[in-house]
Amino acid sequence: MTNFSRRRFLFTAGASAAGSILLKGCLGNPPSATNAATETAQTQATEISPEQMPETPRVKLGYIPIVESAPLVIAKEKGFFAKYGMTEVDVSKQASWAAARDNVTIGSQGGGIDGGQWQMPMPHLMSEGIITNGQKIPMYVLAQLNTHGNGIAIAQIHEGKGVALDISSAADYIKGFQSTNGRKFKAAHTFPNVNQDFWIRYWLAAGGIDPDRDIDLLAVPPAETVQGMRNGTMDAFSTGDPWPYRIVNDKIGFMAGLTSQLWKFHPEEYLAIRSDWVDKNPKATKAILKAIMEAQQWCDKPENRAELVQIVAGRSYFNIPAQVLEPPYAGQYNLGDGKPSVSDIKMGPLYWKDDIGSVSYPYKSHDLWFLTESLRWGFHDGKIADIDQAKKIIDAVNREDLWKEAAKEAGFEADIPQSTSRGVEKFFDGKEFDPENPEAYLNSLEIKRA
Ligand code: CA
Repeated sequence: MTNFSRRRFLFTAGASAAGSILLKGCLGNPPSATNAATETAQTQATEISPEQMPETPRVKLGYIPIVESAPLVIAKEKGFFAKYGMTEVDVSKQASWAAARDNVTIGSQGGGIDGGQWQMPMPHLMSEGIITNGQKIPMYVLAQLNTHGNGIAIAQIHEGKGVALDISSAADYIKGFQSTNGRKFKAAHTFPNVNQDFWIRYWLAAGGIDPDRDIDLLAVPPAETVQGMRNGTMDAFSTGDPWPYRIVNDKIGFMAGLTSQLWKFHPEEYLAIRSDWVDKNPKATKAILKAIMEAQQWCDKPENRAELVQIVAGRSYFNIPAQVLEPPYAGQYNLGDGKPSVSDIKMGPLYWKDDIGSVSYPYKSHDLWFLTESLRWGFHDGKIADIDQAKKIIDAVNREDLWKEAAKEAGFEADIPQSTSRGVEKFFDGKEFDPENPEAYLNSLEIKRA
């Protein structure tokens, strides 16, 4: 097991405590006026034992301005990165998922990024060179950033056609769209073969619509998609907060459903960093993880949500009116098209824990669902051939061991899951994914390429 050799960085709790006491002892002399700044830095540093002191205070992490990135923004703005010694974290806005991928391909030394926020399974695909022109960029998945916060938006012209979570009654309408309109029903996501693509495919196929044959499904930038929904050239958008609120509120369209309705507490986006950076800076990696864990706990406290909205909506981050983010962060969604609205904070974005497990912990069973679903749709021209190869890729990319070590060091032991499988997953249409038997899940699906 390769993870065993990686554990050279483990230390005993006793050694850690002794280190802390030694450093605290150095604080005995009150700081003089002349070196007060140095003393302040030392005072902050004394909370970190020598064994946990990061190798570097510097890292560049990319993000996309959607609710998934909140733990990164909050870890920076509320001082959690600095608390763990990561005093020079650059949280860097990315123009698109493709830009984030290109920036991590060159790394921060080349003017890019070391890692950041990803849809799944982008880290696995970059590690295998599948979306990086054959160049392998080994990545480590370190934590999940969030669950929920996404959904399927439909253009206003389709109101009253029964386009809902269960789309089966509208299947003939959508399949027959071409014969009455001269073009296929057209749907968009923001990057192929990742979360947003999976959510809309799952939803369509559950209602008997083949996403590869019955409609056109393609990657389009969000602003362009919304404009297309407005002017009648785009019919559906697999999207995330804050777009659903804007689309419904501006009467551009309505929501067929939320991802929290498709698959409650589903895996969403993740923190992943280049493995060369992590291997070189294991303590800094754990410091980043501890800061993000604290930020996730902070984000989940309802009393912090108003401040969270103010921070992420700000000009240097999402740069949108705060009121656009207030409803999703309260779990309030007007779906439109006569559908009952949702009002439950647990149906909106969650960051640390949900009703069935950890949100932050990167369960390998969730990586396996993303790669099984990739097999279902025949993505990647056989470069991921089968479940066995998928599992090998996951073992190389998923570093739940580092998550657990960081959680232990930060005192979050009580929240460490017992298993790296969350167990059997249940979808809105009654299908089940048992990570112990992904083949049975594939066999149970009617529409598939596999
Ligand atoms: Ca998303």
